[in-house]
Amino acid sequence: MTVLRTLTCLLPLALIATAQSPTPQVFGYRDFTQQAKWDETFMAVPDAKLAGEHLKTLTSAPHWASSPEDYATAVYVAGKFKAAGLETEIVPYKVLLNKPVKIVIEAFDASGAKLMSGPTPEHVDPNKNGGDPFQDDPRILPAFNGSSPSGDITAEVVYANYGTLADFQQLAKLGISVKDKIVIVRYGENFRGIKTYIAQQYGAKGVLIYSDPADDGYFRGDVYPKGPWRPDSAVQRGSIQFLPIYPGDPTTPGIAATLDLPASKRIPADKLQANQPSIPTNPISYKDAAPILKALGGDESPREWQGALPFTYHLGAISNKEAVGNKTATATSNPDSTKVTVHMHLEQDIALRTIWDVIGTIPGTSPSQKDDWIVAGNHRDAWVYGAVDPNSGTAAMLEAVHGLGDLLKQGWRPQRTIVIGSWDAEEEGLMGSTEWAEQHEKILAHAVAYFNTDVGVSGPDFNASAVPSLKQFVREVTKEVPSPKGGTVYDQWKADQQVNTNRRRQHPAGYDSDVRIGTLGSGSDYTPFIQHLGVPSTDIGSDGPYGVYHSTFDDYTWFTKFADPTFVYEQQQARVFGLEILHMADTDVLPYDYELYGKEIVGYLEAAQKRATEQKLTLNFTAALAAAKRFAAAGAAIRATQAAPPADPTALNQSLRAAEEALLNPAGLPRRAWFKHTIYAPGEFTGYAAVVIPGVNEGIEAADAPRAQSQLAPLAEALNRSAAILETATK
Ligand SMILES: [Zn+2]
Repeated sequence: MTVLRTLTCLLPLALIATAQSPTPQVFGYRDFTQQAKWDETFMAVPDAKLAGEHLKTLTSAPHWASSPEDYATAVYVAGKFKAAGLETEIVPYKVLLNKPVKIVIEAFDASGAKLMSGPTPEHVDPNKNGGDPFQDDPRILPAFNGSSPSGDITAEVVYANYGTLADFQQLAKLGISVKDKIVIVRYGENFRGIKTYIAQQYGAKGVLIYSDPADDGYFRGDVYPKGPWRPDSAVQRGSIQFLPIYPGDPTTPGIAATLDLPASKRIPADKLQANQPSIPTNPISYKDAAPILKALGGDESPREWQGALPFTYHLGAISNKEAVGNKTATATSNPDSTKVTVHMHLEQDIALRTIWDVIGTIPGTSPSQKDDWIVAGNHRDAWVYGAVDPNSGTAAMLEAVHGLGDLLKQGWRPQRTIVIGSWDAEEEGLMGSTEWAEQHEKILAHAVAYFNTDVGVSGPDFNASAVPSLKQFVREVTKEVPSPKGGTVYDQWKADQQVNTNRRRQHPAGYDSDVRIGTLGSGSDYTPFIQHLGVPSTDIGSDGPYGVYHSTFDDYTWFTKFADPTFVYEQQQARVFGLEILHMADTDVLPYDYELYGKEIVGYLEAAQKRATEQKLTLNFTAALAAAKRFAAAGAAIRATQAAPPADPTALNQSLRAAEEALLNPAGLPRRAWFKHTIYAPGEFTGYAAVVIPGVNEGIEAADAPRAQSQLAPLAEALNRSAAILETATK
């Protein structure tokens, strides 16, 4: 095999990996021999050094969505797409974005003495550990939260831990009201927008979100530039859009925010309550949070609310002792000495701004399947430089595209059309991907997969999330790709999960005993594809200690010191991403695993039933459970048909795809109709983390039996619909 022999010098590891076993049988292919050759040819192309060059170029300037520097990155990516032979266009949309004009945060003690005046600029000592060459660029915007309104407010402060629903409930139980207060919360546990979402519901006037050193600072290890963790002045920016209500441009839920969209089709700015917060919110560093937290009096915080700053954390208020029985308050005799007052003055320039997706297409050649797209994407915009988030993903994607381009030159043509998306304004609320997906809703109804990457590389540990129907597909791809650590990506992934209990916790055991793959929640661009349109999706990355997320210091210097100095993990990610695309473009039969999917759904329902019983909610699961079991049985049966497909598998493939679409409920979830998938959604109160069978589980969570019961019906209908499609196709 000439192809393989040519590769020996280029790819010794790949050869070892493939030399150990004959051509593997990959699910979905009648005969994998030809594909294995294309795979090898492809894998020789993604180049570590070139990936490093892409990263350096993309991160040479701060490139916040809609800025001229962001447009320059679009032009760069479009150039690489064109050079690889993709039909390429830059697609603009007009979306609502806030840009900070002025940010003032100050704190005072009870006597009016100033405790801090900020925000302190992000800065590390230039004379220690090499400093940071990027930190003084005047184009760096002050740290802010996307979607925060303007405001000029002054109020007393209460500490609310991570700002989860449970944290706010605990404060309420202690008799501490956050009404008309400024709540200070730490990052972690939930999506930041949810902190504001809940604080707002509890009547808070404003929110400060800070990064506690316990979570990603010195408590975890040495801070930048000595180590990879967050230095004291570094701030985590981020969107606080109410993503679980709907993502994308706030003014155009469900429709594309094209440049020519008439203003009458947009929701006016003063009527955006659904997914836009109404209380000012801003992120701060632990350097700026420390004087506020240190001066807070009132009761000691619950001990598990204590972070890693060197003093005891207090709540900022005295609990209502009647409400909590004989709890001893630690307040001094003068209750006023417990008070800290914060003044937040946020001036945001909120306007419709132009953003730019870059779309590259390789047309498919199969007359019957060329319209069944494979979409693969990564966002390009960054809060500042975005070396890890997202441009480590973009650099890998560009090398995957480089590989596809070389295949095109050698005569390869895909059966199905491949569409590569470089999304803009993801950071603001998945805007570029959502608007594009909404614009192409019709054709995406039969797109066969969406492959996402975002934080492509922050270290050496491979990680993936996927719908259950694609879990085995992802594992098979990783078995072909060599790991820089030796063996295959799959081997290292498995070994990492065996030693890393933290990783096991992130991905609870599934319904097969193989490597664990996470569930798609939200916080990246797969959301419009899977949760709005039912396109089976995956998300891949390679992780490590990463404390500079969404700060200025997520830059090329940090990346080459701590994430991937020689870009070999970039190369690995380009190969995995590229093979996902190649396999899905040419597989004879769509390799969806509905057997595992069915088992997982039965498991979700049984767990929900158990929870409902524990909470003494009377719910009838009979119909939904029967439907889930029918779906699981149909999934097991169709695997035999997939393994021995008819000569023309077109109809079978259409049914396989339609079975996923049938899991959508056209009415959507209660209070958030944009989310249509009955099995997966970001949690209303978690944001990033997925809630499975969300309608049912959120009803149970809220102890709302009628709501949970009313959601069991459309779930059962969806499962029966999907099962019927699979049963008909199993012949
Ligand atoms: Zn990102």
